[in-house]
Amino acid sequence: MFNKILIANRGEIACRIIRTARRLGIATVAVHSDADARALHVREADEAVHIGPAPAGESYLSIERMVDACRRTGAEAVHPGYGFLSENARFVRALDEAGIAFIGPNAAAIEAMGDKIESKRIAEAAGVSTVPGHPRAIADVREAADVAEDIGYPVMIKASAGGGGKGMRIARNGQELDDGFARAVSEAGSSFGDERVFIEKLIERPRHIEIQVLGDRHGNVIHLGERECSIQRRNQKVIEEAPSAFVDAAMRDAMGRQAVALAKAVGYDSAGTVEFIVDAAGNFYFLEMNTRLQVEHPVTELVTGIDIVEQMIRVAAGEPLAIEQSDVTFDGWAIEARIYAEDPSRNFLPSTGRLVHYRPPPEGLASDGSRVRIDSGVYEGGEISIYYDPLIAKLCTHGRDRDSAVDHMAHALDRFVIDGIRNNTAFLAAVMRNPRWRSADISTGFLAEEYPDGFSGMPPEGRAGRILASIAAAMDDVENRRKRRISGQMDGRPVVFASRRVVDFGTASQRVEVLEDGRGLLRIVHLDADGKIEADVAVAGNWTPGKRVWEGEVDGVPVFVQVRPILNGYRLSYAGIETAAYVYTETEARLAALMPAQAAADTSRVLLCPMPGLMVSIAVEVGQEVKTGEPLCVVEAMKMENILRAERDGVVARINCKPGDTLAVDDVIMEFE
Ligand code: ADP
Ligand code: ADP
Ligand code: MG
Repeated sequence: MFNKILIANRGEIACRIIRTARRLGIATVAVHSDADARALHVREADEAVHIGPAPAGESYLSIERMVDACRRTGAEAVHPGYGFLSENARFVRALDEAGIAFIGPNAAAIEAMGDKIESKRIAEAAGVSTVPGHPRAIADVREAADVAEDIGYPVMIKASAGGGGKGMRIARNGQELDDGFARAVSEAGSSFGDERVFIEKLIERPRHIEIQVLGDRHGNVIHLGERECSIQRRNQKVIEEAPSAFVDAAMRDAMGRQAVALAKAVGYDSAGTVEFIVDAAGNFYFLEMNTRLQVEHPVTELVTGIDIVEQMIRVAAGEPLAIEQSDVTFDGWAIEARIYAEDPSRNFLPSTGRLVHYRPPPEGLASDGSRVRIDSGVYEGGEISIYYDPLIAKLCTHGRDRDSAVDHMAHALDRFVIDGIRNNTAFLAAVMRNPRWRSADISTGFLAEEYPDGFSGMPPEGRAGRILASIAAAMDDVENRRKRRISGQMDGRPVVFASRRVVDFGTASQRVEVLEDGRGLLRIVHLDADGKIEADVAVAGNWTPGKRVWEGEVDGVPVFVQVRPILNGYRLSYAGIETAAYVYTETEARLAALMPAQAAADTSRVLLCPMPGLMVSIAVEVGQEVKTGEPLCVVEAMKMENILRAERDGVVARINCKPGDTLAVDDVIMEFE
């Protein structure tokens, strides 16, 4: 076994690998760029090496600097995590030459599977069912039309070197193919340095289901069952689960066999993932193989009890797999939600800045046998920079069945406090209540279909609205009782407080009566405009002013609500609802209704920068007329180029910056007449 390993990565995955290495008694070396000098993975490793400036190309992607860091620290092996150098065969060869072990597959397997065309050919030869299509590079648009005609529309044009959900384009007819082909080729060239594209059938309403495989250096390969990753945004995974509600034992066996056959065909000798796309009839087709640890590997670990990173380290050290296929069993259901620094209300644009508050829910095993696991690489007070992936944390829950895992995920998201950076926890919490998700009626189009306009919060209505109004009234009651018990106050006539309150959400309000049931429970009676009883809600909690999460039960059901105090009330978030809740007496409510609302600033004549980033290019000039939807400029942030478009027709009056400028959020980029 190794004595010391280097982790050629950052963020949550570096921290996760350190955790296993430590348990195995292996010393760890972290590497970091300038931007990550104070990052969590640096703090958690036994030692750390600075490898260069912030841009990944000069640090985390530099083979030379990684090998050098190993030499300097005496690390005997390298775990690459995912992304960066994890699927780079040149890196593996460079390590080989330096006599350092790679905790991943051999270079030939990476090469064979790194190319989508080549891997499809190998898969076909190994008897794996592949997406109908032609696994060959298409020379020109004429050949593309022939091939597409032959396969039958709709088709997908794909970059052979593509990855990370990029480099894919749908064509539903000859016209779309004509329009899209040249752009697909040039995008493939500019994004992946490889212009080859191929064409395959577009599978409609598909599910993404993948098989985790595990091989060793002695020719053994097993599989650890499937993960379903159909909840995607722009072909990138957001929520994953294991097992899949769509897969029965026979299908698991069939997919597992094919995945193992493919792994054996390429001499696979580490952890890897064989991805399939599955149509509504249950036919499954090979998509690609990822020759690395996958982001969503924790859900497999939770249901199988196998530490995949540990297995990777052991096989890299030459140990034969100690697990046989028949040893692999599945227990319960696990779900992972990726918590991203992004703004769902601004079309999921990345967000950066300081994590003013970062309070994840408690981890570990609960009394009902469920478990919460958090893989994160950040800490309160730390910063999310513009240079890397916007992943803040991976939140996983494990329960006895799917419903239980989903319920626990909903609660864990409700109590996950993140301030200072826009993030998608409320969005994920809303998805957990979505009836289609709850019934596992999902496909890769789920998010686009259910949230076509992005997400700007659920309305405080219905059952959830009633819960929030009740809790707001209950918290107000706690504060009022405090005010009644000022120490040193002389006995006298008790102050009589009215029990009626109005909870005002801004958009709607609810009249309630706050009553005690004599056993420490509060009853919040909801009244309609005529004073008739609409609902009678039992609230039990031990919230005290200052607590950021209200925890308790409403009508006997556990509820967690995030609380941020504001003037005359609270900002609450729960179940995807983010709302202000003002609590007034009836008199105050009458007067509050007379207060003029503050008008929002007029931003219709300016283009504001939606996130901190770098101005890449400006597409318009002063005096130019622009139409709605026309691109105005490109801002780079978090490895992504974001095109900012005109929100309405207008004429450019002023441009306040130039390419190369660094921008802060809400900087005025240009003004319109
Ligand atoms: P997973 O199934 O593990 O989520 P992804 O394809 O989403 O796999 O990629 C995992 C990580 O690697 C992401 O951070 C993604 O941005 C990055 N990545 C993978 N392939 C590429 C690529 N070819 N170019 C850029 N980034 C990539
Ligand atoms: P990447 O390397 O970027 O991960 P994949 O080939 O694994 O690329 O595809 C990523 C996602 O794109 C899939 O999970 C699926 O949602 C979608 N996709 C890819 N190929 C097809 C196809 N032929 N038909 C329908 N959807 C597809
Ligand atoms: Mg993929």
